[in-house]
Amino acid sequence: RLCVNRENEPWTPVTPARLDWTDNGDPLSEIFGDVYYSGEDGAAESRHVFLDGNRLGERLMEARGPTFGVGETGFGTGLNFLLTWQLWRQLGPQRPRLHYLSVEKFPLQRDDLTRALSNWPELAPLVTQLLQHWPDLLPGQHRLVFEDGQVILDLWWEDVGAALPDIASRGPTIDAWFLDGFAPARNDAMWQPALYTAIAQASRDDATFATFTAAGHVRRGLQASGFKVEKVPGFGRKRECLRGQLETRPAPSPAQLTPWDLSKASAAPTPQPRTAIIIGAGLAGCTTAAALAQRGIQVSLLDSGPLAGEASGNDQGILYTRLSRRHSVLTDFALQSFTFAAAMYRSMFALGLLREGDDGALCGSFHQHRNAEDLAVLRKRLQALPQLAAVLEPDAAVSHLGVKPSEPGYWFPRSGWLRPPGVCAALANHPNITLTEHCGALSLARDDQHWVATSVQGAVTKAEVAIICTGVATHQFAGLEWLPLQSIRGQTSLVPENPAVTALTAGFCHEGYIAPARQGRHCIGATFNLKDDDRDVRDADHLHNLRRLAAALPEWRDAIYAIDVGTLEGRVGFRCASPDYLPIAGPVPDFDAFLHNYAGLRKNARQVIPDHGSYMRDLYVNTAHGSRGLSSAPLTAQVLASMVCREAVPLSRELQRALAPARFLIRDLARNRI
Ligand code: SAM
Repeated sequence: RLCVNRENEPWTPVTPARLDWTDNGDPLSEIFGDVYYSGEDGAAESRHVFLDGNRLGERLMEARGPTFGVGETGFGTGLNFLLTWQLWRQLGPQRPRLHYLSVEKFPLQRDDLTRALSNWPELAPLVTQLLQHWPDLLPGQHRLVFEDGQVILDLWWEDVGAALPDIASRGPTIDAWFLDGFAPARNDAMWQPALYTAIAQASRDDATFATFTAAGHVRRGLQASGFKVEKVPGFGRKRECLRGQLETRPAPSPAQLTPWDLSKASAAPTPQPRTAIIIGAGLAGCTTAAALAQRGIQVSLLDSGPLAGEASGNDQGILYTRLSRRHSVLTDFALQSFTFAAAMYRSMFALGLLREGDDGALCGSFHQHRNAEDLAVLRKRLQALPQLAAVLEPDAAVSHLGVKPSEPGYWFPRSGWLRPPGVCAALANHPNITLTEHCGALSLARDDQHWVATSVQGAVTKAEVAIICTGVATHQFAGLEWLPLQSIRGQTSLVPENPAVTALTAGFCHEGYIAPARQGRHCIGATFNLKDDDRDVRDADHLHNLRRLAAALPEWRDAIYAIDVGTLEGRVGFRCASPDYLPIAGPVPDFDAFLHNYAGLRKNARQVIPDHGSYMRDLYVNTAHGSRGLSSAPLTAQVLASMVCREAVPLSRELQRALAPARFLIRDLARNRI
């Protein structure tokens, strides 16, 4: 299989590494019967083979692009990553950002990682940070952000055989490779011609590789894939090892591109854009603005109204995700985006960018779930994912929630509640972001070099890239009328805290949701009305919210029914959703050109149509987060920033396509509906 695709497979945790320990305290793989690094001096070996083999110190200083991409086969204990990060830290401010992508099929469990890395006291400050961010055994891609976004670690918990062709199918992003599978004789899966081809395809111009082995078939395989290879002295008792440089890059195979191409056309280190316009200052717009600003791009963040004035304006929201017994793009994206968002908010609280109790609290959340079969299956599978979730019966949920829910469900310890306007304000508060509110209706047009946004007052903003993040208003922009967006009215109610009932200590999702009290009130909600554009708060909707809450929290029933709905305050917002409930995030197709170029799909939906030209130049969209923007927007922002800056995207190709605006055109063409 050439790509990562799990649709409908059972959802199970990743298999962790099984370790033995040598007398020196070095880790040894039980599965492969091989060591993770040399017993003589692992750090010296790593520096010699991988860092020096790729001339990393010089190359980082000479880098022509804003990001330097390192790709690794086998993350293991992370020693190579930590040494690379340490080297990056020693360089001056002119250094590029470091983007380290590593594929690992058998990740180390946290305790094993802690023990293995205790061997390197000089790396302790970096080890602490890695351990703080260390992901669960959740299959898929994990993006870890360090050094205020200047160092990014993408961990792919995958088999290299599926992951590398998948990564390569989105275009060249890697400048230096560390080929570090176990010895070829013990693990030939890591040393296959198809992998060398994918490695060469994912390489930027002049990319290099280094590896500890000097095996003849590895040398010949890399040569056949387009690398010039040389033998150099190995470390310690090893006589030789290999290093090399890319000479010619093989084209991606049609199977990697079918049925439509999201690769980036250029492999040369193109300068990243210096300026961007983002329209819409809700969660999608603010997370995207922050992701671009971290990459040094000057962002003009424009909104027709106030910051977080529309769907992101509620007082409180719960960091939500979904679990399922089987993989689907919906569940996989929900889990990956949730874990990324939870980590982002955790570091925002730690840095004091969000204030505990006022902007939110990561106090966990409990999600009621009725399907007993799901709960029974997932109870077991979740035991390997303690940071993610656990199944709890109502009696056991009390200790987390403070009150007893009416049904069992899932406890998410890393979740909690957030005040979306507080999150938006914190994200927009960056020296590279200029926020302009109350612009009135904005229009967007292209001149020769730029996107030009014009407000009703005639104010003009220009930038190289534009990203539209305007929820249900996205239709109003020329060229986006065809997006199948739905507007769903939602009313929240602000219920006064009641000292007569036990306090709620975590977020609680039932058919609606409730957050622990903020400034004496709980935000509860929300109603769900399609085709309803009434902006007025309605008593009937307050009653609906209260009834659902009373059904979910029997202990509170009397207190809830004592509330006079006429006294309640609330808020109406309009969520923007897509027909498949996934966000819409990616490049904007040029509607007419796309239909023309992909017309062949009407006759044969699997036809290979290589094409780089069907997208609007430098125009992207990030919208349709429904009521899940707190969880989904941070990762879609990373996806967009990675595309804009030509970095590896932190999603499988399947998930990137599942979010792409073009998916609706492809589906309609394949079904002959357009
Ligand atoms: N770079 C690591 C470090 O700095 O500690 C050492 C890597 S160790 C020598 C090789 C790694 O490759 C192991 O962690 C192993 O689990 C992983 N591995 C083995 N087969 C794999 C496969 N088919 N796909 C992905 N990873 C694999």
